[in-house]
Amino acid sequence: MLEVITGGMFAGKTDELIRRLERHSIAKRRVALVRPDLDTRTSKVRTHNGKEFDSITVDSNDTATIAQIIEANEVIGFDEGEFFGEAVYQLLKAYEQNGTDKIFIVGGLDMDSEGEPFGIMPRLMAIASEITKLHAVCENCFQPANISYSLVEKKTQVLVGGKDKYKALCWKCAAAEKVKQAQNG
Ligand SMILES: [Zn+2]
Repeated sequence: MLEVITGGMFAGKTDELIRRLERHSIAKRRVALVRPDLDTRTSKVRTHNGKEFDSITVDSNDTATIAQIIEANEVIGFDEGEFFGEAVYQLLKAYEQNGTDKIFIVGGLDMDSEGEPFGIMPRLMAIASEITKLHAVCENCFQPANISYSLVEKKTQVLVGGKDKYKALCWKCAAAEKVKQAQNG
């Protein structure tokens, strides 16, 4: 079974992922959390609130290692799902199609800072049994936020960072901010 927890930054996705993994840990199920090596902020998965969970860092396309981790565990979490490669999507899809007993819980950004679907997340959402979409609060108007707005110029879709590089905005405020940034820059 595949569960997806998605939404923008600062919405509490990693908190929710860790909460679900901890429930299975308490029930003494074998639980692992994997994260892609693109995100090298810490050796553990840590939320913006400082909550931690032990994790295994893997290459974002290393399906051999990921398959080993899946075989050795019952519940497998994936943090920063948007950074995993196509091969990982294909691997999880194959498990799902074969009617696996494994529980996969993937947390990741639905969109990049431009509002475009991010990496394999849209396809994981398509094949998921359950999707939870979380929203941060827009820092300008306090409505639910849609966008993880980039405060610095990005050269690629992937720019790892936290509050120093991004802020949560709704679509409307993100568009207004972009106009403002263009005028100033
Ligand atoms: Zn707003």
